[in-house]
Amino acid sequence: MTMNRPSSPPESASESATGPVPEASATQRLDISVLCRQGQPLAGELPLAQLRRLCTYRGVWPEQAAQTVTWRLVPSVRQAPGDADQLWVDMTLHTRIALQCQRCLERTDAVLDVSKAFRFVHTEAELDRVEAVFDEIDSDDEALLLEPGWPLLDWLEDELILALPIAPRHDDCQIAGHTPSDDPLAGLKPNPFAVLEKLKKS
Ligand SMILES: [Zn+2]
Repeated sequence: MTMNRPSSPPESASESATGPVPEASATQRLDISVLCRQGQPLAGELPLAQLRRLCTYRGVWPEQAAQTVTWRLVPSVRQAPGDADQLWVDMTLHTRIALQCQRCLERTDAVLDVSKAFRFVHTEAELDRVEAVFDEIDSDDEALLLEPGWPLLDWLEDELILALPIAPRHDDCQIAGHTPSDDPLAGLKPNPFAVLEKLKKS
């Protein structure tokens, strides 16, 4: 008599960090600690329009095409000699967004790409210590204080806002026969550089 292999699916823990992962909801709250210990990547897509703070942010064009944001989190526990287990999440984000060119005030499109690693810590003291280390080695990694029910959507949105160009411009901007003061949008969305110039002169 032969033994049948169990019919349950193989353990997902063996899946590679770059392989396909099932679509996950961005509106969930995460238990970062559990996520890191399971080591299972999370990924998904969401409509850009769902991110209201981003879509109404200064310098962002008031109307967006039906763009999507693709996101991916790769959680892990890293062992460091002489230290407790470290909780890390690697995040990648990609989207295309319509912005206002700061020179001609017309629409210009930009691609936002985020690729960043976050280390989660348990105490304020640990946060200070890890931030000091990141500063010292000039690291782009970021330390965050672990909180229960981590809001995934807000986190993704914050990172996209941080990735917005400071002064978006057309690569080959041509001011088409009008000055910013003729532009109906100029009064609604002040050009931050014009404001700076004013401040410098006064
Ligand atoms: Zn322009």
